[in-house]
Amino acid sequence: MRRTDWKSGLLWTACFALTVLVMGWVTRQESDYRLEQDAEQFGLRWSKQLVRSVPELAPVFARGQATPAVLAQVAQLHGESDIFHWSLQDTQGRVVLNSDALRQAGAENAGEALKRQVDSETTATAALRKQVLSGLSRTTLQRGSSAGLPDVYSEVWVPVIDQGRILGLARLVVDQSVPAANAAAGLVRIASTVTLLLLLIAALAAYQHYAGRKRQRSADAQARYLAEHDPLTATLNRASFLARLGAMAARVARPGHAFTLLRVDLDRFASLNESLGRELGDEVLRVTAKRLRACLRAEDQLGRLEGDEFAVLLHGPGTRDAVDAVAKNIQRVLAEPMAIGGQEVRCSASTGIALYGVDSVDPAVLLNMTDLALFRAKSQGGRGYAFHDAGLDGQVQSRRELARDLRSALAGGQLVMFYQPLFATDGEELVGYEALLRWDHPDRGMVSPGEFIPLAESAGLIDDIGLWALRRACTDASQWPAPLTVAVNLSAKQFASGRLVRQVARTLADSGLAPERLGLEITESLLMTNSEQVMQTLRRLGALGVSIAMDDFGTGYSSLAYLWRFPFDKLKIDQVFTRNMVQDPKVAMIVRSIITLAHSLDMRVNAEGIEDPQQMALLQSLGCDELQGFLLGKPGPHGSLTHAGHIQGSPHTRPRGDDRESLFATLQLDLPPRLDPH
Ligand code: C2E
Ligand code: MG
Ligand code: MG
Repeated sequence: MRRTDWKSGLLWTACFALTVLVMGWVTRQESDYRLEQDAEQFGLRWSKQLVRSVPELAPVFARGQATPAVLAQVAQLHGESDIFHWSLQDTQGRVVLNSDALRQAGAENAGEALKRQVDSETTATAALRKQVLSGLSRTTLQRGSSAGLPDVYSEVWVPVIDQGRILGLARLVVDQSVPAANAAAGLVRIASTVTLLLLLIAALAAYQHYAGRKRQRSADAQARYLAEHDPLTATLNRASFLARLGAMAARVARPGHAFTLLRVDLDRFASLNESLGRELGDEVLRVTAKRLRACLRAEDQLGRLEGDEFAVLLHGPGTRDAVDAVAKNIQRVLAEPMAIGGQEVRCSASTGIALYGVDSVDPAVLLNMTDLALFRAKSQGGRGYAFHDAGLDGQVQSRRELARDLRSALAGGQLVMFYQPLFATDGEELVGYEALLRWDHPDRGMVSPGEFIPLAESAGLIDDIGLWALRRACTDASQWPAPLTVAVNLSAKQFASGRLVRQVARTLADSGLAPERLGLEITESLLMTNSEQVMQTLRRLGALGVSIAMDDFGTGYSSLAYLWRFPFDKLKIDQVFTRNMVQDPKVAMIVRSIITLAHSLDMRVNAEGIEDPQQMALLQSLGCDELQGFLLGKPGPHGSLTHAGHIQGSPHTRPRGDDRESLFATLQLDLPPRLDPH
């Protein structure tokens, strides 16, 4: 019981007791008054009766002479009434006769007896005499007084008046024990009835109070439940899960106590949700929550942090072995097929795990650790779990930070384009440039594309970055003297959007760069999928009039089928070969074979990574068409290009007569006048 309840209960009890007491007191006052009234009326009647019954009363008052006849008349009167005691007193307060004297008058000398009895009689004081002789009677109720008297009686003083003349006064002691006892019994009855009624009312009030409290408590509990739980899965919502995590960390901050935090995320839920529809996707989440709950003990906590991401707090000693079993069980139950909307749905999950006390004691840090571990589990293909690992997660963390920065790099103008010159076989004639992206990171300095392009691919930023690179390169190249070309690298991921052909066409039209001056470089990884869509895109790009080069040839799977299935304009021999061909004749043989093969397929050959004159001489002797490397020129910003070695003439690309027409047909634009290269 709450303190306020206890106090108000006491107050109510006190009020209740006081009410009963006051009621009892008032009722008793009322009954006492009635008893007094009755006694007084009786006294007045008795006095009148006395005067009527005893004609010779005046001498008794005047001289105290009570003849036997008078005594007999008075005795008869006394016998008729149930008066306990009476006395007659003259106007001076002297007792002239009383009931005791009368009783003894017959037995002994009446005069003596009278004398003896009246001596011990109570007499009226002067004030009382004055009051009563003026015609006003006085009555006083007495209880439990001295021995020889009734328990309850009224002492009544009334005047004795005979034909208008006041003879004296009479003192009567009226026994009222019986009516008083009757009144008391009535009082008890009333009091107990009222008490009973009040008790009933109090009980009703108390019942209503407690019923209300109970209703309030259950409404509070309901409101608390709704505020703390996720309505879809009935697991804890993010805020309350984090609150419990914090509370748990504070509670177990003593040695010997531990817990483990798990973050469980469904693999490829977004595409599942898309294919099933929102409602069935919700059902998948509900089933997942149910299955997760079944893997846990009652004291463990389960929450949904967001979307398809759940979190679990496992109580108990956090050893890897113990947690391992739970994580395996979670993987197993979540991999079981679900019956959703009449169809069988297969799902799997990845889990990131961090141990309190072992990995960290800070809840926020633990959460972050599970996030990184989950990310690692996901990047290993999902369907698995990973414990926090400081080394591995450190790398993940910095990659994620880099990915976050990369989002703002585009808008923040941190991406810059460098250009590396490409020379003809003689190593003197400049034929064009390869556009190579650089990220001028405010803290890390120049970040290599080898580092951030894969990041952009996994973070879904490659389309935007690729388009920016294409536009930048074409705009810059449009300012170079013709027929200098620009080679732009494309990521395999850019082919997935379906917008690439249109983007290239649009960029060419916007920049005014002739299509034959643009080369696009792709890698073998793009062709490994062997998809018809990719082939189609390559064909459409070729039809625009741009040239297509196979980059880094010889490092991947180097399937010759790629060369057969698509007519590349250029093959770029990977720098690994360039680097090793001088020392290793076998590498030189491979390079020669590649060049022969390319030429016989009507492809030009580029060798990248030329760093010393021997490499260059060997490549020249093998008839390599295009030379690229630090020996000839390092990548530099647009402003640093001098175009030294540029010779005006025909482009070093295969001629395609209908290129411009097909480009503008793709764009559905009117054909603008051909740009004058000068
Ligand atoms: P890549 O297309 O094979 O580009 C050639 C790489 O070799 C460039 O590295 C270039 O700086 C480097 N290189 C050229 N000559 C030499 C040399 O003599 N010695 C040495 N050691 N290296 C040389 P970079 O600029 O770091 O680019 C790396 C890769 O990043 C590129 O390889 C390309 O695959 C990718 N990349 C660059 N820019 C872009 C872009 O705009 N889009 C896409 N998707 N990928 C790009
Ligand atoms: Mg390249
Ligand atoms: Mg390359």
